[in-house]
Amino acid sequence: MKKEKGDSDQIQTSNATSFVELGRTFHSEIRTANLPVYRASTVLFETLEEAKARVDAADRGELGASHYGTIGTPTTFALRDALARIEGPGHSCRAAIMPSGLMAITTLLLAYLKPGDHLLVTDSAYGPTRVFCKGILSRLGVHTTWYDPTITPEKLESLIQPATRMIFLESPGSYTFEIQDVPGVCAMARRHKVMTAIDNAWGSPVFAKPFDWGVDASVLPLTKYWSGHADVLMGAVVVREEHWLPLWRTVRELGVSVGGDDAALILRGMRTIDVRMQRHQHNALEIACWLERRPEVGAVLHPALPGHPQHALWKRDFKGSSGLFSFELKTDSEKKSPTSTQIAALCEGRRYFGIGYSWGGYESLIFPARIGSLRSVAPWQGGPLIRVHIGLEDPADLIADLEAGFSAMERAT
Ligand SMILES: *Cc1c(COP(=O)(O)O)cnc(C)c1O
Repeated sequence: MKKEKGDSDQIQTSNATSFVELGRTFHSEIRTANLPVYRASTVLFETLEEAKARVDAADRGELGASHYGTIGTPTTFALRDALARIEGPGHSCRAAIMPSGLMAITTLLLAYLKPGDHLLVTDSAYGPTRVFCKGILSRLGVHTTWYDPTITPEKLESLIQPATRMIFLESPGSYTFEIQDVPGVCAMARRHKVMTAIDNAWGSPVFAKPFDWGVDASVLPLTKYWSGHADVLMGAVVVREEHWLPLWRTVRELGVSVGGDDAALILRGMRTIDVRMQRHQHNALEIACWLERRPEVGAVLHPALPGHPQHALWKRDFKGSSGLFSFELKTDSEKKSPTSTQIAALCEGRRYFGIGYSWGGYESLIFPARIGSLRSVAPWQGGPLIRVHIGLEDPADLIADLEAGFSAMERAT
């Protein structure tokens, strides 16, 4: 049965066709604050010529040009456009999105490194970054050297080899929160034509502007603060325009793509990121200062505290501090570290602090940091480390919760 497009005469449509045809368009004057969420594998064209033009434009990586759902939809293009502009204001940047923050890291490394290349990675990098470098990247013939995150740019320069292609930074470092001289490293790397990339999880786009520091690429674990609600996994790589095509080609070759519903969740989280970060910052500082006065606590590893070893660098480069930091547990009068039972008593059974991986949501989390296997050249020398993510609760409630934890720790043996 032949039917004109847009014909609403449903009576003449067989049941089987109705299932396919109806509900795909509805013309209305209603405008909403938010973009509709596009779900798409198939993209339709009016003509074959149009299909070819779109494929060509997608090959060039043009934002908005899509011939298939993996390339993009209005929802994912809107997110990528926002990410590039927010992460790199004043710079000409492009963004690609991936199904997790880790995949943003791995896609970035695969995009720019080839067999025989050498890579410098901070020893304070996120654990799975290290696993990837030691695993797939090493099997591909890319050699990684780890560097002490507190190294000066001059000392780091001496680790550059003829085959060095990239320096991968993370500041502050995972678990131990060392701040690097990112502008200094970037200026040095540029002289050697070595690309710089940074994992920008901690600072969020509110408090850290890595392209102003001079990086070539920034990795955004959107799972964390961009989402803000612990309900979606996603990552992004933002690069300067001149680095775009190798990244885009790798995204295409690997088939990396993200669905519209998840992209819409990140866009939603983004609307409130500025106010959330202010509150995370305020709450975390209040709790960090309280922890500094606790007898059970040694160093509090929070870059915004004046006692932090790289506080001056943090103050120079960051616009604020987020909700994630660590603290060290002191040894007792007989120089004995707290036992695992005592550490468990501190963390378990808390009313507000959940035990769980990830962070950046509205809720507080606590986890002992096991960094033994996570360091090559700069091992952690201090006592047991506890990492906390301070959420949006009332800080007084969080302090009472930690106080109960310290009491439970004291009772445990
Ligand atoms: C969580 C995290 C990632 C990875 O993000 P996922 O979306 O969980 O894969 C990368 N880097 C840092 C520093 C992180 O904390």
